[in-house]
Amino acid sequence: MSINSKQQIKCPYCGHLNDVTVWSSVTVEDSMDLKDDILKRKLNIMVCSNCQKQALLPHSMLYHDKQKKLMISFSPCSDPAEKMRIFAEMKTSFSKSGEINNFEDYNLRFVWNYDDLMEKILIFDKGLHDKVTEVLKVLILMQEPEKANDRIGVFGKIENDEIEFLIRDKKEQQFYTSRIPMSSYETIKEQLRLSGVKYKSFNWEIVDIDYGASLLRGVNNIL
Ligand SMILES: [Zn+2]
Repeated sequence: MSINSKQQIKCPYCGHLNDVTVWSSVTVEDSMDLKDDILKRKLNIMVCSNCQKQALLPHSMLYHDKQKKLMISFSPCSDPAEKMRIFAEMKTSFSKSGEINNFEDYNLRFVWNYDDLMEKILIFDKGLHDKVTEVLKVLILMQEPEKANDRIGVFGKIENDEIEFLIRDKKEQQFYTSRIPMSSYETIKEQLRLSGVKYKSFNWEIVDIDYGASLLRGVNNIL
């Protein structure tokens, strides 16, 4: 069920009070419009009627796609300790309440920023699995290990049987693209599966570049 509330929110730039619709839950089956709004970076983003600046609302949101068995919990937060506290709390309450039993075969993801939310939706929309795409990102970034710490990889699109990633270099302030054949994706997906990676969740998971790196360490002997 998609749920919203009307709230008055102070603009972080000019202090003006704006009447805003805050979405706490978005279920894709209820309204494709809401999903489109997320992908256009419009949902839970306020445009101040006074100064016209945009601000992300500091509210959590749950994204649920029943058909794809995908649920993403988005909690905007930038403090690393606070992130882990929210994540741990959520996992515990999910197991204790028994709610976890309603989401067998699901992928349950926990993200803290809007870009990650959008990327996860796109990855699963394209029929890909993010555990594999995060490993692919690590493999791409490790091609130039001395620059890896300055770079961020993001899923772009699938074209001509290749997966395209966008690589942003923060130091050089440059964008690159990197392509990987779908056949390599499938090979790595299978190797990860053989090494014990599960393509469904038993609780909320954080699947990011660090997760990809840890998977890669685990299967290094067979890749
Ligand atoms: Zn303002």
